[in-house]
Amino acid sequence: MEELCGVCGEPVDEENVSRCSLCGMKFHMAWSIDAQVRSCGRVYSDDVRCAIGFVCNICLSEHPELSQSSMDMGQGSALW
Ligand SMILES: [Zn+2]
Ligand SMILES: [Zn+2]
Repeated sequence: MEELCGVCGEPVDEENVSRCSLCGMKFHMAWSIDAQVRSCGRVYSDDVRCAIGFVCNICLSEHPELSQSSMDMGQGSALW
């Protein structure tokens, strides 16, 4: 029944969870500011497909280029 985070191994709740685009594992993603959940991954932007996806911290460490294209507040504003 209980699904576990692929990154930290702790149970995920139904709301603050996402699925990694690379490995398909579920991981913790805090969707609201007040969520008492740490994020075990992040959103990244796929420049090739002009899409956004989610990547867990494990894949992020294996694909550091993803973090470079990640959407950080204040970054990439020159593109707009
Ligand atoms: Zn986790
Ligand atoms: Zn992953």
